[in-house]
Amino acid sequence: MTKSKRMPVLFIGHGSPMNAIQSNTFTDSLKALSTKIERPTAILCISAHWMTKGTWVTRMANPQTIHDFHGFPDELNAVQYPAPGSPETAEWIRSHINEPSIDADDGEWGLDHGTWSLLRHMYPEADVPVLQLSLAIEEPGPFHLRLGEKLRDLRDRGVLILGSGNIVHNLRKIVWDSEANTYTWAKEFDAWSKAKIEARDFESLAKDFAKTEAGRLSVPTPEHYYPLLYALGASHAEDAIAFEFEGMQNGSISMRSVSFGLG
Ligand code: ZN
Repeated sequence: MTKSKRMPVLFIGHGSPMNAIQSNTFTDSLKALSTKIERPTAILCISAHWMTKGTWVTRMANPQTIHDFHGFPDELNAVQYPAPGSPETAEWIRSHINEPSIDADDGEWGLDHGTWSLLRHMYPEADVPVLQLSLAIEEPGPFHLRLGEKLRDLRDRGVLILGSGNIVHNLRKIVWDSEANTYTWAKEFDAWSKAKIEARDFESLAKDFAKTEAGRLSVPTPEHYYPLLYALGASHAEDAIAFEFEGMQNGSISMRSVSFGLG
């Protein structure tokens, strides 16, 4: 990898897998976002959908497209995202981060829908190398924030760090009506998160998200929330903060997306 302009950091709320094959205001925002970013040397995605014991990074040269969902149309199951991997970025991560030690995945995972449902809109040619870092799901919030900090230097090597999850994500409370009213607790927690991001109170975002009823309902399990912490960790204090998309889908999913250091 060669040095290049510092890349921004993104957290994107991915919502339903159907966004991969739909065209809506959210997918329009993804297309617009990629035009504002210099072409990355690689994209490192921390997806809600790769949960492991310990932290792993994909190291294969040609990651497979994983269809990690059920009950969706054939059109979605047929999607392929044949971006190359980036074994050299994986090795950089493994050699520069010792705590925790990061294991290399050479064949099991690949690119899950948390990654390709976004990148198919942002980089439809699938010509930018992509790798994923897993979520050590048993670890608490601060672990993920600290690990995000250790990834920060990748930005100066042209790597786009992308957290993919949802700040509010409660499938048990979901309403299958795109016009559904948003739950009060979902609005409350989304607003709390926005204010904490603007105040750069990342420690609170890492530690306090389950301290309120609104937080416990919004983050019933942490896998969609933790990718945000990687983006926060990888940000610099001087980065501009911008909310690239805001809104709720199906009553209990926040589509809030945020960039650091863009523009
Ligand atoms: Zn998801």
